[in-house]
Amino acid sequence: MTKKVNKIGVLTSGGDSPGMNAAIRAVVRTGIYHGLEVFGISHGYAGMLAGEIEPMESRSVANIIQRGGTILKTARCKEFMTPEGRKAAYANLQKHGIDGLVIIGGDGSFRGAQVFSNEFDIPCIGLPGTIDKDIAGTDFTIGFDTAVNTAVEAIDKIRDTADAHDRLFIIEVMGRDAGYIALHSGIATGAENILIPERKTNVEEIVRSLDEKSKRKKLVNMIIVAEGDDFGGANELSSYINKNLPELETRVCILGHIQRGGSPSCLDRVIASRMGYHAVECLIEGKHNVFVGILNNKMNYTPLNEAVKKKQKINEEWMNIVKILAS
Ligand code: ADP
Repeated sequence: MTKKVNKIGVLTSGGDSPGMNAAIRAVVRTGIYHGLEVFGISHGYAGMLAGEIEPMESRSVANIIQRGGTILKTARCKEFMTPEGRKAAYANLQKHGIDGLVIIGGDGSFRGAQVFSNEFDIPCIGLPGTIDKDIAGTDFTIGFDTAVNTAVEAIDKIRDTADAHDRLFIIEVMGRDAGYIALHSGIATGAENILIPERKTNVEEIVRSLDEKSKRKKLVNMIIVAEGDDFGGANELSSYINKNLPELETRVCILGHIQRGGSPSCLDRVIASRMGYHAVECLIEGKHNVFVGILNNKMNYTPLNEAVKKKQKINEEWMNIVKILAS
């Protein structure tokens, strides 16, 4: 028989993403609606270890749906990787009688939740909060849409100045292990080429193509590079191109952390609200150790242990679209 859940904790962990606040709000208010006590745990697993656990009311989450970042703060926590650390974290949950957890974070945070729930028999429900979109089992992750729109807005501005000077711009976007921000923002801004960690980069081919385009006077070019590309970031690519095509005027722009911040898009607010609502429903129904995703516009529940194994795959057709549309 499933144990009834009475007191739940919610935390944000790992890299932050816009829309985490909307998810917190949904969890808190759905929990209260169902008569549960809801606790906010600050600074992710680090706060669980340090006992940063406070009760939350409906009003605690007023006026946050439109704000980026996370009111609960986030952190990375090495101690949680150790059995002793997790034991101390569990003891703190017990002090408050917390018998269910909602973890908003990326695949690393899900890995932590999986290990923790196996050791202490506490149901954990994950919500995919990551700008990288690199979690299989969901079409959306909270924050991706906002991040990619921020990148597109910035790249559009760069295109204006690139066009004015007939320059080649190499723009680096976030994505240490995943190329989704590069792929989507590159297609949306008409980039010449997109370099992503999931594919081997052929720099000779890039130089050949730039040379050919410059010969036929196609001078405005933008290349989008994900920070984790195997050849290196935008600076490495720029040096290589400068060496091989010294006549091209090349500039580098690294977009950096602006991609993490800002007011979440409508899409991110809506998916965060739906996922947060369903996370609490999961705990009430006795679902254990799954993350809540949305696939084909339906809620989809993936066991945490599967989520941490699989990554989304880049569709090769998308790369072909980039190539054809950039000619
Ligand atoms: P993200 O959730 O954004 O992928 P991280 O990979 O940094 O971020 O993971 C966040 C935190 O999750 C880590 O700092 C750590 O506390 C916890 N965590 C990650 N992997 C494990 C693991 N194998 N065992 C226990 N805790 C883990």
